[in-house]
Amino acid sequence: MSEIRYCPLRGERVIIAQNRLHRPSDFNMCKESGDDISECPFERGKEEFTPKEIFSIKNEKGEWLTRVVPNLYHALSVEERKISYREGFFEYQDGLGAHEVIIETPDHFKKMKDYSIEEFKNYLLAVQSRYIDLQNDKRLEYISIFKNSGVNAGATLKHPHSQIIATPFIPKEIDREIEIARNYYKDHKRALLDDIVNEELRLEKRVVCKNDHFIAFLPYASFFPFEIFITSLNGVCSIKALNYDRIISLSEILKEVFIKLYKVLGDFDFNMIFKNSPPITKQTDPNYFYEIDSFYRFYIQITPRLYKFAGFEIATNMHINPLSPEEASFKLKNI
Ligand SMILES: [Zn+2]
Repeated sequence: MSEIRYCPLRGERVIIAQNRLHRPSDFNMCKESGDDISECPFERGKEEFTPKEIFSIKNEKGEWLTRVVPNLYHALSVEERKISYREGFFEYQDGLGAHEVIIETPDHFKKMKDYSIEEFKNYLLAVQSRYIDLQNDKRLEYISIFKNSGVNAGATLKHPHSQIIATPFIPKEIDREIEIARNYYKDHKRALLDDIVNEELRLEKRVVCKNDHFIAFLPYASFFPFEIFITSLNGVCSIKALNYDRIISLSEILKEVFIKLYKVLGDFDFNMIFKNSPPITKQTDPNYFYEIDSFYRFYIQITPRLYKFAGFEIATNMHINPLSPEEASFKLKNI
């Protein structure tokens, strides 16, 4: 059983999950499982090695194309209750939450640049379906959806997969981002990300590509080389709002972005994060979600992990980016 402990000094929570140590990589978090598919629990025909399936998309033969299962080495569990305790000076709560794995494809070796539009669509439908379903559990306040690809990005299994961690609180960084967007909306009556997109479209210096519904660009103050944001041109606050056509459109831009990234960077490690508005739950402040559909925007952040973080980044949460986004955008556009 895990615990969510509160650090009073940093004003942030941490999940203490000792069962995670039994993961295949154990203490060596820098080691990733290899190319031996006989060892891989995410292969077709090895379904008994994963916990019971939560969601899947199958082909006409009944074989799964994308499936979602609970994480065997889960950091949080839906079986827990939302109770806080005191331990003298300190405060903790039971490790309530959800921790799931999206097995994106049966193909152990497939890279995102080689996904078909159909494969991206199945993946995004799985993400959307799990986001919608987890929203129904009103104890969960934030649904974090992310992909770690490669050792430098924190992956311990090679088979293409993403993870979902739903927490009974909104993490501090997310809360801060929401507050910034809310304050901007109060002053301008427009969503901050909409205004950023309009400016990027006007300047064209950092736009990598766009289609009818989505745009991919490098943020003006990119934290990392080749960091890319993909967002809707239609102002939606979560993946829940995307209809089938928009899912296809998002699949198309993701494919284009990954093809470009792999062409420029070769085989590279990366994190991909889905930023959705938090599910509407009972907050202590009833105004928390007021007009959130108008000020918060859904986006996908792709962060290539070309080097490791060091002391300065840990100390300050501030980054030194050795390549300007204009230069990176130029390379991506002209490949
Ligand atoms: Zn595999």
